[in-house]
Amino acid sequence: MKLVTYEWNGRISIGIVKQNKVIDISSYAPDMLGLIERGFDELDVQALESSGAMPPIEDVHLLAPIPNPRRNIMCLGLNYTEHARESYKARGQEAVIPKFPVVFNKATTSVNGPYDDIPYDTAVSTEIDWEAELAIVIGRNGKNIPQEEALQYVFGYTVLNDLTARDLQRQGKQFFKGKSLDGHCPMGPWIETADSFTYPGSRQITSRVNGVTKQDGNIANMIFDIPMTISYLSRGMTLLAGDIIATGTPSGVGFARTPPEFLKPGDVVECEIEGLGIIRNHIAAI
Ligand code: MG
Repeated sequence: MKLVTYEWNGRISIGIVKQNKVIDISSYAPDMLGLIERGFDELDVQALESSGAMPPIEDVHLLAPIPNPRRNIMCLGLNYTEHARESYKARGQEAVIPKFPVVFNKATTSVNGPYDDIPYDTAVSTEIDWEAELAIVIGRNGKNIPQEEALQYVFGYTVLNDLTARDLQRQGKQFFKGKSLDGHCPMGPWIETADSFTYPGSRQITSRVNGVTKQDGNIANMIFDIPMTISYLSRGMTLLAGDIIATGTPSGVGFARTPPEFLKPGDVVECEIEGLGIIRNHIAAI
């Protein structure tokens, strides 16, 4: 099931995408976080389908599936071996493959829609880089979750671009600032619920800039897979329903290229996960 948050006729609603049309389910739950908390047991899609207009998905403005997360997005860094290697090489250092997940955050205010413009301010950064990632949405609260049970805590999956201001990232020892510019975390176009997304699985994860492929990896190659990641993060720290976890990016990012490449105003950056969806954002000078 594909779940969206969308704006149509001046109103923001949540919906289910069915045969390219959007069924408004906002009478069932007020927003995506409310839906995650309520669950689907009492959801009668057929009744909602017959009760209202169903605009074609092309006619609505899709927002991030969770436009206002309750807390920062949790992200894994260096979670694909080739990306870890290219990152160290670009810094002139010997590669160290992480023994434990490298975890950082993106601010809630970085969240952006799947097709919305990415603000680009040269006074802030001129080294904006792309990172296509598979993100998971947690479905229920949990602490000290064993790996074998971890997938039961996944509500669904979405595509996320962990856009990064490399110049800001280099300035300090923490990633947070360079990862958190406003609008620099587009995601979507929907949440594919866990019952309709096979994991683990072999799915290509790609990014393109102006139609040219930059990253072409496979989610099967994560160093720390999703059960390991959930189990690790939940050790002594409660994961909350609605939490978003980005699982890292494959090789092919801009700063590790020779010469380095960064996004500039007018560029269009796309991230795609096979069988899940594509997000596409235009870089817009402000
Ligand atoms: Mg990343």
